[in-house]
Amino acid sequence: MVEHAELAHLRRCVELAAEALRVGDEPFGSVLVGADGTVLAEDHNRVASGDRTRHPEFELARWSAARLSPEERSAATVYTSGEHCPMCAAAHAWVGLGRIVYVASSEQLTTWLGEWGVPAPPVRALPVQEVAPGVVVEGPVPELTEEVRALHRRFHSA
Ligand SMILES: [Zn+2]
Repeated sequence: MVEHAELAHLRRCVELAAEALRVGDEPFGSVLVGADGTVLAEDHNRVASGDRTRHPEFELARWSAARLSPEERSAATVYTSGEHCPMCAAAHAWVGLGRIVYVASSEQLTTWLGEWGVPAPPVRALPVQEVAPGVVVEGPVPELTEEVRALHRRFHSA
């Protein structure tokens, strides 16, 4: 399952999500890691700009398509605070990126938002594997799930 070094990458995703929240954006953060464990790129949500497609996983897919070879992409891992939405799962698969490790699942997030009375988003939350069946996906990671839940709670109670 998720090793110690991988937890560090996931912790960084949670930090990036907290950073997004600090600048008034939705708390999502992601890190792209190469086959040798090197962090290649990272980003957080930027939808507060008004462009609702500015998810970090989408940015990392585009970043990798512009800078990495197909081999490097397929050997890379995307760590993320929340499971890819269908848009980002599709982008991830189209550019041929490798494994995904997420802290909280889309199902968990959907449940939390429902509990808090947040209106449903315009795109259905599907598991990554329903969109991109060839991608290896791991999560949720219980060690960090509560932190991610707390960030979303703060965003939606603001
Ligand atoms: Zn997305």
